[in-house]
Formats: sequence, C-alpha cells, structure tokens
Amino acid sequence: MKRFRRILPWTMGAIFVALIVLVAPNMKTAVSSYLRNACCGNLICIDGAKEQAALMLGTKRGDTISVEAFLPYLKGRSLPTCPTGGKYRIGVYGELPRCDRHGRFNQEWLHLTAFHGDTNLLAKLLTDGFSVNHNDEEKWTPLHWAAYGGRSEMVCFLIGKGASVNVRTAMGQTAMDLASDTNTAALLRVPGK
Ligand SMILES: [Zn+2]
Repeated sequence: MKRFRRILPWTMGAIFVALIVLVAPNMKTAVSSYLRNACCGNLICIDGAKEQAALMLGTKRGDTISVEAFLPYLKGRSLPTCPTGGKYRIGVYGELPRCDRHGRFNQEWLHLTAFHGDTNLLAKLLTDGFSVNHNDEEKWTPLHWAAYGGRSEMVCFLIGKGASVNVRTAMGQTAMDLASDTNTAALLRVPGK
C-alpha cells in the first residue's frame, strides 16, 4: 500500500505528460485552422460588401471599387482585420480579395459555401482554381455538402459544373445518401439505380 502511494504521483505525472504531448500538437493545429477560417470569414464579408457596392454603383468587372464605397455594407462600417496581422488586398471587381498571410479562400470554404448554397461565391471559387470535385479529410466533395445542406439549387449548379454524383465519402456514402430531403435526393438519383 505504501509502495503504491509512492508510485501513484509518478504514474499520474507520467499520464499527464503523455496527454500534453498528445494533445498539444492537435491544439496548435486547431488554433491555426480556427484563425485561418476567421480570416477567410473576413474575406467572404469583404467580397459580399464589394458585390453589393458594385450593384449599387453599376461597377463593371475589372473596375476598382474604393474601400469607402463598400464600407457601408460591412459590419460596423469598418474593414475587418486578419487575426494574425495579415494585410488584405481588396482587388478589382470580379476578383476575390486576399490576405498576404492566408492567401485567398481555403478549401474548407469551398465546402462551407456549398453547404450554405451561395452559388455566386462558389462560381468565383471555381474560377479561382478550386476543383469542383475537391474532397476534404472525410472525402466529402462540395456536392456531398450541398446535398447534406438540402441545397437543391446548389446541387444543380454543381452537377452543371461537372461534379460527380458517384463519388463516395470515406464512409462510403454518395451525395444522394447524404441528401437531407427528398427533392435534393431526387436530383442526385443515378438513372437505373
Ligand atoms: Zn489572414
């Protein structure tokens, strides 16, 4: 019993150290991915404000939009800032804004955009070089996300852009298997199956 009491603190200490060693790298990755996503969220807000200002001003693609022109469409009428100090380049109308630290939008946003059904932004992301069938860690493509979100308009849009309906996730699901409602599922039904 005495010996047990003596080794107990050491055992507990060893378990604690092992946990820190295991958890710390994951924590670091989670924090940096959180910050990157926060930055991309800002870029999406800036792009949305640019779109609204362009609509009001009748701006043409390739024309410059001044920051003052789109500030009224941003929360608090101020330009959001990158959480890790990156500088934002606004770009001309029709061009996506970018951060000099985090680049443009990241792949996760491609999937989130599909899930939320913003076809306008998704079209821009595809023009910006993202693949329509890009898959994430769980092998979900934008089509899987759109189906899961029940975004029938987005599902049609993605299929029109060449998204494959037969691609399976890591769990073996097709987009139809993930469809959250019957209308969306019907769009994804492969003829003859
Ligand atoms: Zn940034």
